[in-house]
Amino acid sequence: MSDETTTHEFQAETRKLLDIVINSLYTERDVFVRELISNAADALEKFRHESLTAGEVFDANAPLEINISLDEKEHLFTISDSGIGMNRAELAHNLGTIAHSGSNTFLSQLAEAAKKDVNLIGQFGVGFYSAFMAGKRVRVQSRSWDGGEGHEWASDGAGEFTISECPGLHRGTKIIVELKDDAHDYAQKWKIESIIKQYSAFVSFPIKLDGEIVNTVQAIWTKNKSEISDQEYNEFFKFTASGGDEPLYRLHFSADAPLAINALLFVPKENFEMFGFGRMEPGVNLYCQRVLIDQHSKNILPEWLRFLKGVVDSDDLPLNISRQALQDNALVNKIRKVVTKRFLKFLDEEAGRDEEQYLKFFSTFGYFLKEGATSDYEFQKELAKLMRFESSKGEAGKPVSLGDYLGRMQPDQDSIYYINGPSRAAVEAGPYVEMFKKKGIEILYTLEPIDDFVLNHLREFEGKKLVSADSANLDMPKTADETSEAPTEKLGEADTEKLIAWLKETLQDQVADVAVSKRLVDAPAMIVNPDGFMTGAMERVLAAGRQEKGLGLGAPGKKKLEINPKNALIQQLSALREKDADLAAEIARQIHDNAMIQAGLLIDPLAMVERNYKILQRAAGV
Ligand code: ADP
Ligand code: MG
Repeated sequence: MSDETTTHEFQAETRKLLDIVINSLYTERDVFVRELISNAADALEKFRHESLTAGEVFDANAPLEINISLDEKEHLFTISDSGIGMNRAELAHNLGTIAHSGSNTFLSQLAEAAKKDVNLIGQFGVGFYSAFMAGKRVRVQSRSWDGGEGHEWASDGAGEFTISECPGLHRGTKIIVELKDDAHDYAQKWKIESIIKQYSAFVSFPIKLDGEIVNTVQAIWTKNKSEISDQEYNEFFKFTASGGDEPLYRLHFSADAPLAINALLFVPKENFEMFGFGRMEPGVNLYCQRVLIDQHSKNILPEWLRFLKGVVDSDDLPLNISRQALQDNALVNKIRKVVTKRFLKFLDEEAGRDEEQYLKFFSTFGYFLKEGATSDYEFQKELAKLMRFESSKGEAGKPVSLGDYLGRMQPDQDSIYYINGPSRAAVEAGPYVEMFKKKGIEILYTLEPIDDFVLNHLREFEGKKLVSADSANLDMPKTADETSEAPTEKLGEADTEKLIAWLKETLQDQVADVAVSKRLVDAPAMIVNPDGFMTGAMERVLAAGRQEKGLGLGAPGKKKLEINPKNALIQQLSALREKDADLAAEIARQIHDNAMIQAGLLIDPLAMVERNYKILQRAAGV
């Protein structure tokens, strides 16, 4: 046997992870029992599913259960399952690497989250390594369901593990934890029993402790709502979400027609994607008649609902459906549609019921809904209602809905306006909102680049066009006091025309057109989008994408410059043009660059700084 032993090093990230698990998390050691039980249950679910679809399986008669045995004398905690098992390569891969891309941010996030709430570690997909919280040495004996040779994986959690052949095993996995000197109590029955009661009540296979069954198997989602207490719901949430304390939202519903569906969905409190460790795996499991047929199902909900946890169960699906067949199954598609619509309706109701709670949800998970609005036409109407934006008529930090906006529109207003910017303050200081403020027309501030894509995709809301305020030819409704506006000093028409002709020539490489602005109030100039298709923010995102790929800045579509004849600088420029054409041209270019910056668009910073010094030198009389 020993000459078949191979020694492997843990992947570097795994080593760091083990270090965190062993040295920072050891205070919450109970977690390891739950994690090993959860892995055993996963392995059994996987086996059950394979056995329904595959013809032949090894050890077909072994009962599907989890056995835990304790040895107080030898200080051993042993857990075994008759699940899917692992072959040699799977042992090396599954127990030697981290599934998530093991970046350093991921690890430091893990360390942070673990400090906050150690229950969260299950969500990091690092469950198995928690065995080293209590074990000085861990052995994993496993034989795959295909009946190939069995192997033993062994490690003390330091830098290496070994794998050797291990004959005579049954199907499944046995994990032997040799307890550390200060962890001997994990070989005591009362202790393990209480941990199982606390954490593993919903495991859908019998758990036997030294031969006695200690759990009751239950499918809580098929029960009547009135029979389930909040505490039971929360326990179930902890179980399905591998941790966390309470969900942010919970939706439990059943339908009989046209489809028989039982669904229990949870929105967790935390968004792990925001923590920067890559794309989340879907968290809802698909059951059929209480049998799990697709864990973390990619099919049962749209991808952008991957933050949801829980269960969808339908009696209408055939039990022996294979995972591939789920992909384009018409019935699965119908269930997806029904459940998604129901969930979005639920969110809308919640938003009406408790706005503060909804805004909390939206700030954490709104991003996913926005992803849905830009990628999925099917649910756009529902998603549009759920969007929230900062607004000129809303308080900072209290974003409003498109519905709110609609209710406040001027009688003759036929569009909903928005403008993108990096922050509320930046938008309010920019030229785009001047006229809106003056006319008392509400304008939404889209502070995330994706917002413009969302509104661009939606195109309209309840018959009102969604219009970016940086588009040219913006038609704004007239307000009553505009006709009585006091005449202000401004550049005469003839001079304006000449100035515009000169600007067109001076800036011919930079702009598509120059025109008099109908909406600037104080600012000298602004950039608008002549095509009206992409907003400045969208262009910025695309340009950043090009840069990331090393494609350079690319050539953004040429913009239109609007100037304000009421502005003193513009008036002066007209005069200066005749006295000192060179300086006037530099100033014109600078005005253009400033307007580009205010539009959030890219300019050539080096050229600008050089020009800026020239102008400053003149101002200082050099
Ligand atoms: P996760 O359960 O989130 O995938 P773990 O660290 O708990 O992460 O387990 C890593 C992997 O090891 C599992 O995905 C699974 O492939 C494998 N594994 C762990 N325990 C078992 C078991 N009892 N039987 C079969 N495979 C297992
Ligand atoms: Mg696990």
